[in-house]
Formats: sequence, C-alpha cells, structure tokens
Amino acid sequence: MSATVYLETFGCQMNVADSERADVRLRAAGFDLTSSPETADVVIFNTCSVRERAAHKVFTRIGEVRRRRIGSEPIVGVMGCVAQLEGASIFDGSPSVSVVAGTRATDRLPQLISRALDGERRVIDLDERAAGEAWDLPATARTSKYVAFVPIIEGCNKFCTYCIVPYSRGREKSREPSDIIAEIHELHRHGHHEIHLIGQNVNSYRPKTESGLERTKGATPFCRLLRAVAATGMERIKFTTSFPRDFHRDIVAAIDEHENLCEWIHLPAQSGSDRVLRAMRRGHTASDYLKRIDAVRSARRKLSITSDIIVGFPGETTADFRETLRLIEEVGGYDGLYIFKYSERPNTPAASLMDDVTLEEKSARFMELETTQRSFQRKIYERYVGREVRVLVEGTSSKFPSDMTGHSTCHKVVNFRGTELMLGKVVNVRISVAKRNSLYGEVISAP
Ligand code: SF4
Repeated sequence: MSATVYLETFGCQMNVADSERADVRLRAAGFDLTSSPETADVVIFNTCSVRERAAHKVFTRIGEVRRRRIGSEPIVGVMGCVAQLEGASIFDGSPSVSVVAGTRATDRLPQLISRALDGERRVIDLDERAAGEAWDLPATARTSKYVAFVPIIEGCNKFCTYCIVPYSRGREKSREPSDIIAEIHELHRHGHHEIHLIGQNVNSYRPKTESGLERTKGATPFCRLLRAVAATGMERIKFTTSFPRDFHRDIVAAIDEHENLCEWIHLPAQSGSDRVLRAMRRGHTASDYLKRIDAVRSARRKLSITSDIIVGFPGETTADFRETLRLIEEVGGYDGLYIFKYSERPNTPAASLMDDVTLEEKSARFMELETTQRSFQRKIYERYVGREVRVLVEGTSSKFPSDMTGHSTCHKVVNFRGTELMLGKVVNVRISVAKRNSLYGEVISAP
C-alpha cells in the first residue's frame, strides 16, 4: 500500500493526540503521510463537534478540497466527534465522503481507508475500541519533538446539559498508571522536555488498578498520579482540563511539593450564576468554585489560572450575566479566558430549552466580558515585566522570523530574539514587554 494520506485536525488536544495515533497506525500499515491536501490520495478530517461553528467548518473544508481537486478527487474521510455523532448521515449530506470513523475507531483507520481505496463507497465504523487496545505512542511519532500530549482519561460522565462530549466520546475511561508512567519515561529518554496530561476532566481520573501509584501519597488517584509523574524526572508537567467539582486542595499540595509540576491550572467556571450553573448541571456553585480558586491562590508559587465561560445560556438573564462578571472580579481576572456564545448542540438536554437570549444580546455580553477580562489580563501580563521566566523554545515566531517562541512554565506564550540552535532548549527570558496575549523579552541565560 503506497497511498498518501493528508490528515487535518480540528478541536481540542484529545483530537491532536488521536491524530498522532492515527498517523502512527497509518504509517505502520504502509501509508505515506503528506502535508499536501492538493496531491494526497486520501484526505481525512479529524473533527470537533463541541461548538456548532467547529462542526460546520469541516464541511466547508470538504467543499474547498473538492473544488480544488476536480478531476483528481481524493478519498475523503471524516473521523472524530462529528463522525461519531452524525454517522451515516454524513454520506447523504456530503456525497464525496466515503469513510466515517468514530472516536473509538482510530486504530482501525488503515483498514477502513483500504476498503475505500478498494472501491467500497460507504465505509463506516462507530464501534467501541477493541479490548486491550494500547493507548501509548512511540516518542518519535509526536507532532512536536519537545512537548507531548499524554491522554490519561477519555470520555466524560458529567453530562453538563449543553455539552456533546459524553455522547461523542462516551463514558470516562482512565488509563492504567503504569502505562502512563512508562510512556513518560520513554518521552523523557527521547528528549521531550514537557508533557501535558490530557483528558476532558483529568482530575476525575479513576484507573481500574493503581499499579505504579503509591497508595498513601495523595488524596485521589489523580493526585497520586501527579506525584508519580513528577517522580519520573520529566522537566515540565502540565495538565488540562480540571473539573471544579473534583478539584481537591491536594492537587495544589502536589504542585507545592514538585517544582516540575508547572504553575498553570485550567479550571472552567462556565458561569457565575448559581441558577445558570444548576441549569447547566455543573455540580458546583459560584462559591464552590471560588473556594477552589482560593486553594489555587494559596499555593507556594503563583499559579496561572485560565478558564472557560459560556454567555447566553438559555434563560440567562442580565442579572445572571452580572453574577458572571462578579465572579471574574472575585477571581481577580484570569491569565486567559475562553469565552463562548452558547450555541445549541442537537440532542443535548439544553437543546430542549428555549434559547431565549438573542444573538445580539449574546454578542453584547461576550464583548463586555471580553473587555473586563482584557483589563485584568493586561495588568496580570504587565506584572511579568522585569521578571524572569523559564521558556521551552518550541519554534520560530510566525510573525517575526528572527524571533523564537515558546511557553513559560505558567503557560504564557513568550517571544524573544534567538536562533534555531535554541530549539528544544529551556532558556531564561527576562520580560521587557507585555502584549495582549503574549510576553516579549531577552534571553539572559541559555544552556
Ligand atoms: S465536564 Fe461537562 S463540559 Fe466538560 S466534557 Fe464533560 S459534559 Fe462536557
């Protein structure tokens, strides 16, 4: 088999990790991966359905590829969340698609593509993972040579009323700790300096066995895992996303104990109104959330906090929205905030509610929240001026080729004058300029 495959990824880090996995399985089966959708024999889109816009984008992209390839049409496949949710109806809506592979079919992608190459018109696989399917990936197969995503849990049991993930990714399934630790050791040996433990809710981690974890250390399996991962010696360890209800103070204690657990927590609030949080079925109130923030603020090192907020959830009144603004004030602003205008996801419980907040009102709330956050963020970023941060050099700046770019341990984008010889190294940068979403500085020491 010598067909070439182009793989394009939308959505979250779980999708990036799944694409890396698909890449490995395809190469092992004899396919060549290409970065050109113009020439590939097979074009696969790994899709996201969390927002309406993301789900639409993939069909726009399919149309674009088709128009450019008239006369040399590739095999087109859709994998991931949209594939899992929409299934065979994708064939009717987009007749150029001949492969649909659900979220648990990634390892079977080579066989599915082969069947399409053999002339089968509608190849579909929405089945569960095969029993005993391995999660690990070789260190050499990672998109980045320096930073690797390590899934520890997939799926979600929380069923927030607006969210499609429990349906697209299924129930929570945690990976065995000994496998995670072995993978991180391998990444470390191959020169990766930073790993991100990823999952829809990493702190809901509940493996079947606790092999490789100290039973006594840590309040929850996730805290024990954090300590075990820290003990691997990996230089920088980040984790995302944390679910507020399952966020225990012991996570902060683990960070206090281990310098290599980085200073960044992503803790989505979604709303500051208890009424809306109840309608979202988040399982926490604004005050529960603020207690978690207090715990994070009590850490020995200053931890960055980022969050997600949805504006215009059905029934959200102006007073509810004011509660959200108040929450942000009480948090003291975030180091970064992802704001989303509510959009209905079919077949979720919230889809049966009347979406009574007009688009204009959603946009107005979005803008107001953004303005509030920006003013906090500016002050937070300005506090870095004159300070030193440790940056893993990950690439060349896309705007200024003479600048290099990377992330600090507090997960800020940091740019600085440098050369490609710095790639993959950890450098100390003194910050001289705070920009809206990044910092700029000079390297003051490099290895
Ligand atoms: S916790 Fe809620 S928002 Fe997050 S993935 Fe699960 S259902 Fe979706």
